[in-house]
Amino acid sequence: MLTKRRIGVVGGGQLAWMMASAAKTLGVELVVQTPSPDDPAVVIAADTIFAPIEDAAATALLATRCDAITFENEFVNVEALSTLAEQGVCFRPGLGVLAPILDKYHQRCYLRNSGLPVPRFIDLEESRGSRGRGEEIFPTSLAQFGFPVVLKARRHGYDGQGTFIIKDIEALKYRLAASYKQQVGHGPSFLLEEFVPFERELAVVAARSAAGDVVTFPIVETQQEEQVCRRVLVPADIPNTIAVEIEAIAHTLLQGLQAVGVFGIELFLTTNGSVLVNEIAPRTHNSGHFTIDACETSQFEQHLRAICDLPLGNPALRCSGAVMVNLLGYENASASDYSGKLQQLEQIPQAHVYWYGKTESRPGRKLGHVTILLDAQNREQETAIAQQVESIWYNR
Ligand code: ADP
Repeated sequence: MLTKRRIGVVGGGQLAWMMASAAKTLGVELVVQTPSPDDPAVVIAADTIFAPIEDAAATALLATRCDAITFENEFVNVEALSTLAEQGVCFRPGLGVLAPILDKYHQRCYLRNSGLPVPRFIDLEESRGSRGRGEEIFPTSLAQFGFPVVLKARRHGYDGQGTFIIKDIEALKYRLAASYKQQVGHGPSFLLEEFVPFERELAVVAARSAAGDVVTFPIVETQQEEQVCRRVLVPADIPNTIAVEIEAIAHTLLQGLQAVGVFGIELFLTTNGSVLVNEIAPRTHNSGHFTIDACETSQFEQHLRAICDLPLGNPALRCSGAVMVNLLGYENASASDYSGKLQQLEQIPQAHVYWYGKTESRPGRKLGHVTILLDAQNREQETAIAQQVESIWYNR
């Protein structure tokens, strides 16, 4: 029986938009808090509160209109919402789950303290011995990594915004000075970590129910360009030992956090076959979009099932494999360019095209995605299909 019928979603982007069909299946209504009437999820919401996502007063109002609240991004102000939690508002995942992982430095510390493998890292501010804005970097801190290093904004980075691969000390000084000036990531607080010369990037979406069950979706390979996910190959072509290790990481993580809901876990597979956790996201994830068409249960239904105290669904594939390609905005594109290309993509056999209805297109912005189902797992075919999609989309 459904104990929670109305779910509040803080954020009205594509992740909230893609919850719509699962909500319908489960008989759940979505109430969305989002800043603009143009945001993708407004059209699917039963009710909307137009307010910035970090506006805690608006979330208090949202709480009066739903039975539980979830988030579609990491821009959560835990401190501001804690009073609501104390008053009994049900957040899923809970604020105590989010608190140790929203800041990338805290998240790295949490993962390391949980015994999970992570890249070597330091907090840049602490490593400089002061919290001032001086540009001098202690060479000793850097010496342990060597160049290149990866500089990451501790908060508010996404889709590679706030992540910089730095080649030398001059580039580091330049990037820090520029970031302080532009206030990248809402403030000059950075994490510095070793550059991992990974062989491949992998990801897994995992869910934990309110009853404490954990299930994982098939592990996938993700391919990034300029730190933005471009394609996802399903399932990842990895040895069983690696798959078992990644599933164990997902279980340790979600059980350790006592999380309720879906989490995205991004990993590096190194050339010597070891796995490192790059990042965890306490929400549905781009690497799990293929689940809508390719799995018995989608990541969006799984998330709502967890939030609504329902048993988790079957995450198994319904086909042999799949390819998901993100449709990113590109320069000088007009709406008619996009619509002609969407029609072409729909002609590809077994293609499922999703267009998020964003009114503003910017180069690199995620505007939609396409998932193509495959009858057999064949890496060459997957690569050829991804290239076909991208040659249509980007005129390559
Ligand atoms: P975001 O939160 O913006 O997605 P990520 O930390 O996931 O930032 O980084 C985005 C991408 O940048 C990764 O998918 C990977 O390709 C690259 N990257 C991030 N950290 C490292 C690292 N330590 N070594 C090598 N590449 C990295």
